[in-house]
Amino acid sequence: MPKSKTIAAIATPPAAGGIGIVRISGDEALRVADKVFKASNKLFLSQSDGYRAYHGKVWDEQTAVDEAICLVFRAPHSYTGEDVAEISCHGGLFIMRRVLQAVLNAGAAPAEAGEFTRRAFCNGKIDLDQAEAVMSLISAQGDRAAIAALNALEGNLGKKIHACAEPLVRAAAGLSAWVDYPDEDIEEIEPESLKAMFLQVKTQLEDLLLNYDAGQAATRGVETVIVGRPNVGKSTLMNLLTGYERSIVTEYAGTTRDTVEETVVLGGLTLHLADTAGLRETSNPVESIGVERAMKKLSGAQLVLAVFDGSDPLTGEDKQLLEHCREKRMIAVINKTDLPRALDLAYINSIAAQTVELSAMSGEGVDKLADAAARLLGTEDFDPGSAMLANERQRLCCKRAVKWLEESLRTVELGHTLDATGVCIDAAIEALLELTGEKAGEAVVNEIFSQFCVGK
Ligand code: GDP
Repeated sequence: MPKSKTIAAIATPPAAGGIGIVRISGDEALRVADKVFKASNKLFLSQSDGYRAYHGKVWDEQTAVDEAICLVFRAPHSYTGEDVAEISCHGGLFIMRRVLQAVLNAGAAPAEAGEFTRRAFCNGKIDLDQAEAVMSLISAQGDRAAIAALNALEGNLGKKIHACAEPLVRAAAGLSAWVDYPDEDIEEIEPESLKAMFLQVKTQLEDLLLNYDAGQAATRGVETVIVGRPNVGKSTLMNLLTGYERSIVTEYAGTTRDTVEETVVLGGLTLHLADTAGLRETSNPVESIGVERAMKKLSGAQLVLAVFDGSDPLTGEDKQLLEHCREKRMIAVINKTDLPRALDLAYINSIAAQTVELSAMSGEGVDKLADAAARLLGTEDFDPGSAMLANERQRLCCKRAVKWLEESLRTVELGHTLDATGVCIDAAIEALLELTGEKAGEAVVNEIFSQFCVGK
């Protein structure tokens, strides 16, 4: 095997902390570490077993840099699958950079973004979906996101995909044997059992696709926009949800001129909220910029909270708003339940998927909003422990596999040659192996690892 370049980087965040870690990986990692790290017990790291920790000092040539602990990992039992030394030094930014500099002076090359994880992938330590899980875990902002990423890291999705690919691989092998060696005594392939298998695998992949949106909503949060004509209580609702005065609340129509954005957690669901200027026609140039932005926000939103004033009859503007939101996942929020009701809900109910009545001023009824959002987004019974597709790349691979399974089914139903079925099965398998990274092209791999930070 060719020697791998030995790389090094600061693996902890570029900020002051208690401990900072400089990670070194590659065939020469321990010899490089020996040049800068002198263990108190005088032992050499390059002669050490793996899973050992040493106390000692870091030197840059003749200059002592820091007192540190160095961990030794031996290939293949390390994160990257190579020899690894991790120097845990004091977590000052200057000190970490100084230790890294010493390591680079000793012969290591600076690691590129994601290079450690890329090596783990290339050395067969993790699948591509697990590499992506590392990224999700680092960026997780809540319990559910962290649990889901951890499960992906443990290979939950990979196991599920392999379980789907396995019968396909078996069928492909059987088909090609049958096609290539017609004279041999090979068991004939039953179209019915082939069809049943395709259907079963297809259903499993479709379940993954169906849960994708809910999984994304539960782990990454939901782009949510609050819309409604002026004075219905949008800012008050925004303030209620964020828990403090953020939008300007006034009794005059049209005061929230621009979008106000905030991330809130509502019943365990993270909403990236934008309170908009409203969508009405206006001749005020400043307000019209706000309206334009609101329209843009609306078109990109995954969830719309359309607010209505329950103490007013429905206006033409309200109806227009409902029309704008017709195609969106919408909750109609009937505000001001503390005032006498003048609004007739029949029209709204005929368009909105969910209707919630509340008082943004008192907060009464806001928990119903959380339930309605969870119901609408399918996050109610989302299980972060289950296998789930973590990103758009994986979703597209899964979709492609389903498409080829449909084609496979069609070839059998139409009585095409087994050759044709074989081609479709191969394409489905390829899509699944691209998902796990076993057959991902260089460009895909590059793209994924370029999104990592240096040191990971
Ligand atoms: P926006 O223009 O839609 O953002 O509306 P605001 O949030 O500025 O509210 C307009 C007016 O309605 C303010 O005077 C609020 O205090 C009042 N308001 C908002 N929510 C409620 C509510 O639930 N009950 C009552 N009685 N008044 C409310």
